[in-house]
Amino acid sequence: MDRISELKQYAREHHVPIMQDEGITFICDYIRKHHSKHILEIGSAIGYSAICFTSVSQDVVVTTIERDDEMYQEALKNIQKSGLENRITIIHGDANEVIVEGKYDVIFIDAAKSQYQKFFEKYQENLKAEGVVITDNLSFHGMVEDISLTHNRNTRQLVRKIQSYIEFLKQNEQFDTTFYSLGDGISVSKRKIDEKN
Ligand code: SAH
Ligand code: MG
Repeated sequence: MDRISELKQYAREHHVPIMQDEGITFICDYIRKHHSKHILEIGSAIGYSAICFTSVSQDVVVTTIERDDEMYQEALKNIQKSGLENRITIIHGDANEVIVEGKYDVIFIDAAKSQYQKFFEKYQENLKAEGVVITDNLSFHGMVEDISLTHNRNTRQLVRKIQSYIEFLKQNEQFDTTFYSLGDGISVSKRKIDEKN
């Protein structure tokens, strides 16, 4: 079995919420089409998506942030096994707290859903002028479109948080966001051209 299939199997067995096939294909196509080189990911889990991104081209380098100890160790191991330690830098810490230097072509938000807006506001400073912020899980298993699918209080609270993040993106005057009902729901937010310049 190849490395990617092994990672997918591990994720299935250990209930790690890695990206769905449709979503990962979408982002990889985006990276290929736009020749994106520098990618910042919030939420590494076992390193699956970061490893997929580097498979698009030799030029792709990824910085990825993970706060959970076990996930971090697992990701580190997988990155080393794939011989990608020179192209994937994993930061062990809470994305709300760590300081990331540099500017990125793609910032991919795939961590705690309740904090999406905070992540967006913090990391937009790290976005290149032509860069995009991509967010995963905006559908949250269809519950965002239909909250009656869940009666769990905590889940409903999360669903409301995602709904308010979507509203934040729609109202955001600095960014144009396109929503895709692919995988578990993905958005691509691009900075508007400043007309004064
Ligand atoms: N991008 C991965 C899946 C990420 S799952 C893939 O598709 O392969 C979400 C991960 O985000 C979890 O491992 C969780 O521990 C991590 N996470 C959640 N909140 C975080 C935070 N505030 N800072 C860093 N990591 C966080
Ligand atoms: Mg996800």
